[in-house]
Amino acid sequence: MEKVAVARCNSYDEAIIYDQLIELLKPFNGIKSFIKPGQRVLLKVNLLMGKPPEAAVTSHPVLVKAVAKLVKEAGGEVIIGDSPGGPFTTARLKKIYQKTGLTRVAEESGAQLNYNIAEQKLSFPDGKLQKSFMVGKYITEADFIINIPKLKTHGMTMFTGAVKNIFGAIPGMIKAEYHLKTPSVDLFSQMLLELALFINPGLNIMDAIVGMDGEGPSGGNPKDFGYLLLSPSPLALDLAAVYLLGIKPPEQAPLIKAAKEMGLPSALEQLEFFGDELRPVAQVRVPVIEQASNLLDQKLPEPIARVVEYLLRPRPFFRLAKCTGCAECYRACPAGVIEMIEQKPQVDLAGCIRCFCCQELCQYRAVEIKRPLLGKLLFS
Ligand code: SF4
Ligand code: SF4
Repeated sequence: MEKVAVARCNSYDEAIIYDQLIELLKPFNGIKSFIKPGQRVLLKVNLLMGKPPEAAVTSHPVLVKAVAKLVKEAGGEVIIGDSPGGPFTTARLKKIYQKTGLTRVAEESGAQLNYNIAEQKLSFPDGKLQKSFMVGKYITEADFIINIPKLKTHGMTMFTGAVKNIFGAIPGMIKAEYHLKTPSVDLFSQMLLELALFINPGLNIMDAIVGMDGEGPSGGNPKDFGYLLLSPSPLALDLAAVYLLGIKPPEQAPLIKAAKEMGLPSALEQLEFFGDELRPVAQVRVPVIEQASNLLDQKLPEPIARVVEYLLRPRPFFRLAKCTGCAECYRACPAGVIEMIEQKPQVDLAGCIRCFCCQELCQYRAVEIKRPLLGKLLFS
């Protein structure tokens, strides 16, 4: 049984969160059972883009500060890091740390902000899909990793939590290569699980106090979920999160479906809960994932697949009136199907792999995911 600790929490008050973390850690005999004095401890946060904490796009700085305080009390050295969406550069990191409130966290807690943008290829002989991973050195140089995801909906993977947060171990634009190598959501989910097994964060603390629903992970709405969740297992934490989001059965979420196929925990009954009772949150708007249409059009002849695609599959839709021409979507598109024409994006949908990186990385909410009516009727 995988252990998950649950705390009801409706506040980003630092003292309240610190006390809740102490409670959450009790079933595991406290932070000192994880952290040894002198260890370099990476707080792997979600820094998708430079948005303020109230936008609910990134891990909340107050939670990060409370975790940093605990680690320091246990004698650890704290480093805060992530590889955000887009290029992995020190200038970009500096801006994002500032906007997300982490510069202040570092000043007040004595934690270091990561500026090491070097990368390293490591072999993963146990992988069925991936025999190696290219990861940031900021990950490999840590003695212990505490994963601090934000719970949000996601246009491609339905939700993003602890396992998906580890995708930030892959530096910058190299993420696009992994999207291209695993173009269906099922393969992508399998790759994410292998990466999580490979990186193996020792502790996972989910910011599900205020998360995001609707057009997540960046264009949705902040939503009060009211929980802090903690587990040594990122997958166990995500199983609990799927229950919280009201996704039934859990394998409706592609990540849990992939976990089941890989023989990993995929049912709530495989979890042992501690602390407060976890209940599904009412009226969470979760994207419908058209896995069946993905499967269909991989097996059909080209002309029929095109019709199926048109009728069933969601697609990125660019609201050009909102577009500033920043070209972030163009740079991020793994399939290279976005062209900038007169400073506006044009997409060739024939080559689009529906990763929705364009929607994820558009700061101006100019990219929406359009779901054809028939697809909505069939898959909702
Ligand atoms: S759609 Fe968004 S990301 Fe793409 S160019 Fe326009 S504003 Fe930038
Ligand atoms: S157009 Fe958008 S959804 Fe399609 S492959 Fe490019 S980034 Fe992914």
